[in-house]
Amino acid sequence: MSFPYEAPVSQSLFDRASVVTPGGVNSPVRAFRAVGGTPRFMVSGTGPYLTDADGREYVDLVCSWGPMILGHSHPQVIAAVQEAVARGTSFGTPGEGEVELAEEIVARIGPVEQVRLVSSGTEATMSAIRLARGFTGRAKVVKFAGCYHGHVDALLAAAGSGVATFGLPDTPGVTGAQAGDTLVLPYNDLEAVRAAFAAHEGEIACVITEASPGNMGVVPPLPGFNQGLKDLCAANGALYISDEVMTGFRVSKAGWFGLDGVVPDLMTFGKVMGGGFPAAAFGGRADVMAHLAPAGPVYQAGTLSGNPIATAAGVAQLRLLDDAAYAKVDAASAELRSLVGEALTKAGVAHRLQVAGNMFSVFFTERDVTNYDEAKKQESFRFTAFFHSMLAQGVYLPPSAFESWFVSTTHDTRAIEKIAAALPAAAQAAAEARA
Ligand SMILES: *Cc1c(COP(=O)(O)O)cnc(C)c1O
Repeated sequence: MSFPYEAPVSQSLFDRASVVTPGGVNSPVRAFRAVGGTPRFMVSGTGPYLTDADGREYVDLVCSWGPMILGHSHPQVIAAVQEAVARGTSFGTPGEGEVELAEEIVARIGPVEQVRLVSSGTEATMSAIRLARGFTGRAKVVKFAGCYHGHVDALLAAAGSGVATFGLPDTPGVTGAQAGDTLVLPYNDLEAVRAAFAAHEGEIACVITEASPGNMGVVPPLPGFNQGLKDLCAANGALYISDEVMTGFRVSKAGWFGLDGVVPDLMTFGKVMGGGFPAAAFGGRADVMAHLAPAGPVYQAGTLSGNPIATAAGVAQLRLLDDAAYAKVDAASAELRSLVGEALTKAGVAHRLQVAGNMFSVFFTERDVTNYDEAKKQESFRFTAFFHSMLAQGVYLPPSAFESWFVSTTHDTRAIEKIAAALPAAAQAAAEARA
C-alpha cells in the first residue's frame, strides 16, 4: 500500500538505527513490520500527545504500551523524578523508595502479602515461574496460546494447540529442553486445563495466564474461567500465577483482580507501576515468597532492582491513581469505543470491539474472539489501512491489529475530538482495503 505521509527525519533516523541495531529497533513491534511504512521516532510527549522527529503531533493511543496512564510528562511524576535524580541515580543498597513502592502495591492488591521488585515484566514472570517450580518441586508450566509473558525462554512456546500439546519453541534460540516443560493450551478452555492436570498428575508447578489477555488483542476471560483455573490449581497442588503486567494498576486501582476478585497465589506487575521507568514486580502469598533468597533457597537478584528513580516515579504515579483518575480513564475509553464502533458500522466494516475495563481493541471480524486461533482469523489487512489513515491524520495507534489500545487521564475532549474527526476516513479506508 502507499503511505499518505512521508516522515523524512524519522526515515533518516531509522536508516541510521538499522546500521547499528538489528531491524533498527530495540523491541520488534516498534519497527512497523505488521503495518509497513516508516516507524515514527518520537522526541517528546505532553498529556495525550506525542511529537515526532518531523515535528508532527499525534494523539497517542499506545501510551508506551500502557504505562503512561497519567499522560506524558505528568508534572507531579516529573517533579518526583527530578527530586530523586538530584540525590543520585543508584546505590546498590536498600532505599526507602523501594519500601514505599512495595507498601503501595501490597496496600492495593489484597492477595499480595509480599512483593519483590525487578526491572521488567519479563523478569517478573521468569522469576515467578522459578519460584513456583522451587516451591512445588515440579517442572511443568501451563500457559495459553496468545498470552504473552515477556521473552522468557520457557514462555516463548505458544505454537501447537490442542489438549496437552507439548510446547514447541516459537523462536530459534529457545531449545526443546527449555520449552519442553511448557504445556500450551487454548485460551478460555477449562476442559483442556483439566485434561492437562489429569495427564500430568503431580508434575505441573503452575498455570500462568494474563489476568485478562491484551497481547492477542483484547480477549477477556469468559465468566468463570479465571476462577476455574484457580480451583484446578488448588485441587492439584499447583500455583495459579496471574500476569497483571498489562492490567495491573490500569483497569482499576487493584488491576484485574479488582474487577474479578479471583485470588491468585502469585501475581506479576510492570508497565503502569514504573511510571515510565523500568520497574516491575512479582508477589503474592507470604509462605510462597518466603522461598526467595535471602529468606529462602530460590535465587533471584538484580543490580538495578528497586532503582531509586524508577521507584520514585512509580510511587508518584500510583499515589495519583485514585478513583477519580480511573473514572476519567474509563470514561475516555468508553467514549472512544463508541466513536470507533459508530464509524466502522457507518462504513459497513465488520468488526468486534472487545473490552477489558478501560483496555480495548478492534477485531476486523464478525464473531466474538475468545482465543488466539479466532483472533488470527480477523481481516488484519483492514487494520493496516485503518492504521495508516489514522496516522496520517495525527492519531498514533498500536502498529499491529493484535494489541490493546490505551488511553490516559489526559485524553480530554480536544484529544477525543481529534480522533473523532479522523475516524470516518479511516473507517472508509478499512472498508475499501483488499487483502
Ligand atoms: C508487557 C508484558 C510483559 C513483559 O513486560 P516487559 O517489561 O516488556 O518485559 C509480560 N506480561 C504481560 C501481560 C505484558 O503485557
